[in-house]
Formats: sequence, C-alpha cells, structure tokens
Amino acid sequence: MKIKFLGTAAAEGFPAVFCNCEYCNKARELGGKNIRTRSQSLIDNKILIDFPSDTYAHFLSNGIKGHEIEYLFITHPHADHLSTDDLYMRQGAFAHNMKAPILKVYGSKSSIEKIPKYYKNISLNSIDLYETVKFDGYEITALPARHMARGVSVIYIIKGDKTILYAHDTGYLFDEVLDYFKNNKVYFDMITLDCTNGVIPITDEGGHMGFDNLKRLLKKLEELGAIDGKTIKYFNHFSHNINPLQEELEKVAVTMGAKISYDGLEVEV
Ligand SMILES: [Zn+2]
Ligand SMILES: [Zn+2]
Ligand SMILES: [Zn+2]
Repeated sequence: MKIKFLGTAAAEGFPAVFCNCEYCNKARELGGKNIRTRSQSLIDNKILIDFPSDTYAHFLSNGIKGHEIEYLFITHPHADHLSTDDLYMRQGAFAHNMKAPILKVYGSKSSIEKIPKYYKNISLNSIDLYETVKFDGYEITALPARHMARGVSVIYIIKGDKTILYAHDTGYLFDEVLDYFKNNKVYFDMITLDCTNGVIPITDEGGHMGFDNLKRLLKKLEELGAIDGKTIKYFNHFSHNINPLQEELEKVAVTMGAKISYDGLEVEV
C-alpha cells in the first residue's frame, strides 16, 4: 500500500493564509517541507481522504488526475477537511470522459449532509461509527474521533494488503477505540496521528494532540499490541503556532521512533 500526504497543515495552512507571525514568516522564507497546505491524503492512487479547498492545487502539484479517483472518505465537516464547492465540477460541461464516472463519497451523516444533494456524478454514503465499508480488497472502518460531537468526526482504519490508522483530527483516542483495537486484535503497519499542537501542551480532551499526548498514546498502543517497532509512525496536521521547522519537529519525533509528514511525501507501507 502507498499513502501520499498531499496536505499536512491545520485549518489555516502553514504559513497561515493571513498570518504575519514569526513562524509563518520563517516558513515562507525557508520554503520546501515547511510549506504545508490543508489536510488531505491519497491511498494507492484510488482512495482520497478529505477534500479541502487545496484539493485542486494538490492534484496539479502531484500529477493526480481527479477523474480517476473512485473513492473519497471524509473525516469530518470542518472546512479544512471538507470544502464542497469543487465537487460541483464533476458534471456537465465541467468534466468530460471521466474514468471513474461516479465518485463514491463516504463520511459521517454530518459530513455527508454538508454536500449538496443536487451535485451530479457523486454518490453520498453516510457511515455509522464502527461500520466497515468493503470494496476491491479494502476494508475501511470509521471510529469516533475526539474532536467534534460524537459521531460527527471520525478516524479511519484503512485495511488493504497492509493496515493503516488514519487519525486526524482527534484528541487522545477514546478508551472505547483503544478497546476496539484490543478486542479485535488490530495491528497497524502504519499509523499517522494528529500533532496539531506539537510542543504546546494540550489536554487529552482538547480535540487535537501534541508530542506529550502522542508519547503516551504510542506507549498505550504498544501495550495493546496494536503497534510495535516495525510499525511506521508518522505525525501530521501541524499548526503555525508550533515550532515551524520540519527539522526541529523531526528532532523531537525521532526520539519517539516517529517521523514528520510533509506535503508531497509518499510512504510505501
Ligand atoms: Zn483539521
Ligand atoms: Zn502564523
Ligand atoms: Zn477539524
């Protein structure tokens, strides 16, 4: 399985759209991996996760043909994960000869309801917590995120020939989610976890995580047998309010056996 990180910032982007803070200016100056757009990933050139306003730019900069993508899974209805306007462009004079005639969209009821029903050539599918969607050898399971009201925001287990935990945006994982991993003997070949707060402390209930929460979460996941030394560990979804340098973030992550995502990074799992 391959996962490509298309956008790795928090809601405002990094540098943020209108921000003149020290970190945003530093990111603009350094460029490269320090430039982060809104959250989105692509699995095996087939399954898109989230649809922010940067989607079109992601397609262009990564050579992605939007019409080939068959599946879209939405984590939650915040604008940096679901910006619906460009989904309208899948119809009539806007889109010809699409290889995937229908884009199958999955998400919580709240995410799906945000997409206008009159949009053409997309199918809208609400999924419940703990529901698994199966297609073409993949199994994708939605679990509750600690981010919005229960059931509005989800994280995903994405199972193909390997298993990935995709957990953005969320605070420290709920006990019920950890129990689910334990009871179902889930093992992850890769995990990508919310690191919005980086070095800035945030409570486990804060809706996002930083290094401190992640340190404890990794330990817990290891105790449960859900990850081990072979699991590929990435932190993702960064805010401009934390240390801006990819290099600096990497220095902290490496002490935890983890890596830092950046826009355009492809990982072979
Ligand atoms: Zn977000
Ligand atoms: Zn800033
Ligand atoms: Zn969010």
